[in-house]
Amino acid sequence: MSPALITRVYVGVGSNMGDKLSNCRKAVRLVGGMEDTSLVERSPFYRTEPLGLTDQDWYVNGVIGIQTYLSPQDLLRSLLSIETHMGRVRNERWGPRIIDLDILLYGNRVIDETNLTIPHPLMHRRRFVLIPMVQLDPDLIHPVLGRTMKELSDDLSGEGQAVAPVDGE
Ligand code: AMP
Repeated sequence: MSPALITRVYVGVGSNMGDKLSNCRKAVRLVGGMEDTSLVERSPFYRTEPLGLTDQDWYVNGVIGIQTYLSPQDLLRSLLSIETHMGRVRNERWGPRIIDLDILLYGNRVIDETNLTIPHPLMHRRRFVLIPMVQLDPDLIHPVLGRTMKELSDDLSGEGQAVAPVDGE
């Protein structure tokens, strides 16, 4: 086996149930404490309008940058187990959730497996992802679209996608 490489990864963090901000903060702590992984940076958290099923509470969302030796599949498994540990029950798609952790970017890797798509296929269409990504690294290039986070964010219509800073963030 070849030695594992450390990779910079961006993970989206979101919650729209219970104490959303504290759920997000707890998830960030748990992700930073995962084996072979360290937390590098975190965007501010934002209050964001729900997409898809709009008849639900607003979300709190943010993005973290981590460094990890975990493979993409091992990372996904660890993130899903944090979601389960925090009490997430999977029911309706896009419905309310205590915590949602998405792998947005895994270095420059492009992955298309049955259970894992990277870059996250919706990241370039979501303001609640792009606004925090621009905070972290506006010049970072999307490995499939070849455009920076800033360009992708500027291109996106804000309609129905309000994003407001959380007080005190
Ligand atoms: P969700 O309801 O958004 O949390 O969907 C979770 C499922 O999406 C997981 O069980 C993964 O198998 C799948 N999935 C596909 N691509 C990704 C990704 N980039 N990050 C997280 N989950 C993903």
